[in-house]
Amino acid sequence: MIIHTNPAIPVAIKQELIATTQALCPDANTLVTAAAIKDVPESFKPWIADSWVFDTDIQLASRAYQNETIAINMGDDRVIGGHQQTTFVAAGPCSVESHEQLWTVAQSLKGLGVRYFRAGCFKPRTSPYSFQGLGSEGLQLLQQLRAEFGFSIITEVRDGSHCEEVIEATDIIQVGAKAMYDHAILRACGQSRKPVLLKRGFGSTLQEFVQAAEFIMSSGNQQVILCERGIRTFETKTRFTLDLCGVAYLKEHTRLPVVLDPSHAMGYRYGVPALTRACLAMGISGLLIEVHPNPSVAKSDASQQLDLEEFSSLYQTLPPLAQAVGYRLC
Ligand code: PEP
Ligand code: MN
Repeated sequence: MIIHTNPAIPVAIKQELIATTQALCPDANTLVTAAAIKDVPESFKPWIADSWVFDTDIQLASRAYQNETIAINMGDDRVIGGHQQTTFVAAGPCSVESHEQLWTVAQSLKGLGVRYFRAGCFKPRTSPYSFQGLGSEGLQLLQQLRAEFGFSIITEVRDGSHCEEVIEATDIIQVGAKAMYDHAILRACGQSRKPVLLKRGFGSTLQEFVQAAEFIMSSGNQQVILCERGIRTFETKTRFTLDLCGVAYLKEHTRLPVVLDPSHAMGYRYGVPALTRACLAMGISGLLIEVHPNPSVAKSDASQQLDLEEFSSLYQTLPPLAQAVGYRLC
């Protein structure tokens, strides 16, 4: 249940209400209890301005609470969500590997007009023997890149060991598929006011995915973007299965902007351009696409990254496709 308290509620009564209902307080006048609670004791009612009852713990993210999609301030002068039908494109390599690699991609992306640069420094690899990312050194390179090219940076928090450092350095915080259940990360994101791009765990239901967003929102940060990046099914010919039905569900039932990552879903570069166009046809707020100057030698996700030319050809086909479904690229 979401409760809006009357601003005149005495502090002691509010504390009692919070204790009685075991509520979380994302802001001064909002309380959120478990969905199982459907009413509050009579004595508190004079202090309640409004309330909403829910079937499940999809509450702050629900359109049943507020119908309008949340406007996300993207760290520059751009907004996605809200009344805007805008789609941002974030491109860049899977991992920060070197100054040369980053600057080569950046020059190409800047030339195309791309404004959001994605690259991981703390990589959540499946094997401890694989490249784990350049860590803090990578974050410094991304800072330099931002200063030189003016991109907004999207980079990911892998675990609690560097959470504050990444949140400080990045413009948009990425929480990866494998970190979707990391409550320390989710709560730290909730303390920040930066946009959080939350990726769906590949074994997570839509309910679990949105509940992860609820951890961030109930901790105080409403700037959450949901990213579908493929789920694991019985199919093994592609890396994952992109859940576009899930995208329709999220758009219908939640007020969080939805973005798509065709690169990780497909896992093979041959399918990425067509899949990107299919994603855009869903009417979405953003795209994440991996681009590398020489994908064959990439230190992570080599098979799915587009080279600079492939990305450039793809990028040029996107504006009319977005326009066909009432969106425009930003
Ligand atoms: C990534 O974006 O590079 C990444 C690791 O993605 P995911 O968390 O979706 O696997
Ligand atoms: Mn990757």
